[in-house]
Amino acid sequence: MTEHLIDRFLNYVAIDTQSNEDSGTSPSTMKQHDLAGLLVSELVELGAEDVVYDRDYCNVYAKLSGEGEPLGFVAHMDTSPAASGANVKPRIIENYQGGDPLLRENHFPELAEHHGETLIATDGTTLLGADDKAGVAEIMNMIQYYSEHPEIRHRSISVAFTSDEEIGHGTLHFDTDRFGVREAYTVDGGKLGVLEYECFNAASAEVKIKGRSVHPGDAKDKMINAIYVAMEFNGFLPAIERPEHTTMYEGFFMLSTMEGGVDEARMKYIIRDHDRGMFEMRKGLFGRIATYLNEKYGEGTITLDIRDTYYNMAEVMKDHMDMIDRVKEKFAKLGVNCVTLPIRGGTDGAALSFRGIPCPNLCTGGYNFHGRYEFASVQEMKKCAELLIELVKIDD
Ligand SMILES: [Zn+2]
Repeated sequence: MTEHLIDRFLNYVAIDTQSNEDSGTSPSTMKQHDLAGLLVSELVELGAEDVVYDRDYCNVYAKLSGEGEPLGFVAHMDTSPAASGANVKPRIIENYQGGDPLLRENHFPELAEHHGETLIATDGTTLLGADDKAGVAEIMNMIQYYSEHPEIRHRSISVAFTSDEEIGHGTLHFDTDRFGVREAYTVDGGKLGVLEYECFNAASAEVKIKGRSVHPGDAKDKMINAIYVAMEFNGFLPAIERPEHTTMYEGFFMLSTMEGGVDEARMKYIIRDHDRGMFEMRKGLFGRIATYLNEKYGEGTITLDIRDTYYNMAEVMKDHMDMIDRVKEKFAKLGVNCVTLPIRGGTDGAALSFRGIPCPNLCTGGYNFHGRYEFASVQEMKKCAELLIELVKIDD
């Protein structure tokens, strides 16, 4: 059922598909086509139908017909710009018992849960790319399984492999009509058994401060130092509500860049909250601070530009909880304990949910994404792959 899964995964991580947030092109890096092209030829070889390679945006779509309403699966092909994905040399650690020089249990205590498993780790110079090539491999494994077992009844399947997810463009050019489903799962999570259908509401805010630059010798009662006003603005935000002090459902403000001088300053923030009302209040607080400072220093001192980035998919999912129950039931059948956890971020599924395709996120068996400590558990990846097979299986 999963005998080719790991070879498939190792093939995919050997291909560098790092995306680049500064490129401005679509896809952001041409090398993502190297994996897209391989997946297209493998899908054709496996007998998938309607295999479409959208070369303009580097997205791949394919179907495998079965019975009834198609179920969709999405994974992304790119890896994070945060660490190199070139020349990935995976280390296979059989019967892991701790003591690895890179994966130190005092740094990553959750490793203790993986004793006895086979882990795939990096050589310490690159990321691994389990995010999200584990998801890609698990979906491809499902296609292979059902194409080799036409006698096993299953729902129709639609799959999509996207580019540039890591730079927030995963669904920018996503063709929902071509995908053609009314429900789908992203396969882009971590620990086995974790199911995610709640994410942040997210906005970005840019605060521009116009100061009044005067020669310091003559500045009395004239100078307005934009940097001090910027610090004053930031001082109104509760220091306890920052990413480094929050967890689970707690929202935050984060100052991500700050630059400027006496005459002008600029700050960029991200705003996050699972609760929509709290999210609106957080944005409202920015407005109140701006109003106050404009009254104090003069109209036009502060200009605010707040943009929503994505919303909590729980808002959509609450009408599709059967999709969550189905995963729990299939996990139970596989003997896996299923837990639902809020995502402290967003997913492509959040964007798709608001475009009419409710889309929770399934686990892949990968850990420590976006860096050189990334690893995957072979046993967990196999269970995740079995879950996908189970999700579309029709029991007689
Ligand atoms: Zn991912």
